[in-house]
Amino acid sequence: MSERNLLIMGAAGAGKGTQVEFLVEKYGIPQISTGDMLREAVASGSELGQRVQGIMQRGELVSDEVVIQLVEARLGRPDCLPGFILDGFPRTAGQARALDALLDRLGREPLRAIWLHVPDSELLRRILSRGQGRSDDTEEGVARRLEVYRKETAPLLDYYAGVLAEVDGIGSIDEIRGRIEQALAQP
Ligand code: AMP
Repeated sequence: MSERNLLIMGAAGAGKGTQVEFLVEKYGIPQISTGDMLREAVASGSELGQRVQGIMQRGELVSDEVVIQLVEARLGRPDCLPGFILDGFPRTAGQARALDALLDRLGREPLRAIWLHVPDSELLRRILSRGQGRSDDTEEGVARRLEVYRKETAPLLDYYAGVLAEVDGIGSIDEIRGRIEQALAQP
């Protein structure tokens, strides 16, 4: 396998952001974060941004159609040819199926998925202690994001079972980084 087509899963507060930064640097692949793309749309005040702002604020999911379109446009760009790391997408079964179809159409190599696993009680503690860094980091917003994650996104762990590496997300940043590297070094 010469492409590095990665997917990182983990609930809000699992510590994906930090680890994604390191994967971007180590492998020279771009991060594709639908959350970042949507936040940019909101900040720019575009029509899309205005449409999704309230949904994001409440911790609900934006429609599959919208995020699939964003990912499709992004994955078609040449910097994704050596590989990419999907972060926060897919979040529903429909998105996962659309992604498979897209990768197939683009003739891309199979994905590898990393699941950064952190128990719920620890997730809540981490998010609430990081304060109001993001406008959707209110107690209700966070609770709703975790609920939506459990209902819509956690089932994808089964969908990706064959290509998934579970990584224990409790520990220091370096420890977790080491675990991810080890998981990706397995054939
Ligand atoms: P994130 O930064 O990944 O936590 O995303 C922030 C918010 O953007 C989420 O709570 C959703 O409202 C929206 N969002 C991001 N990615 C997706 C996705 N793949 N599907 C639906 N909504 C998304």
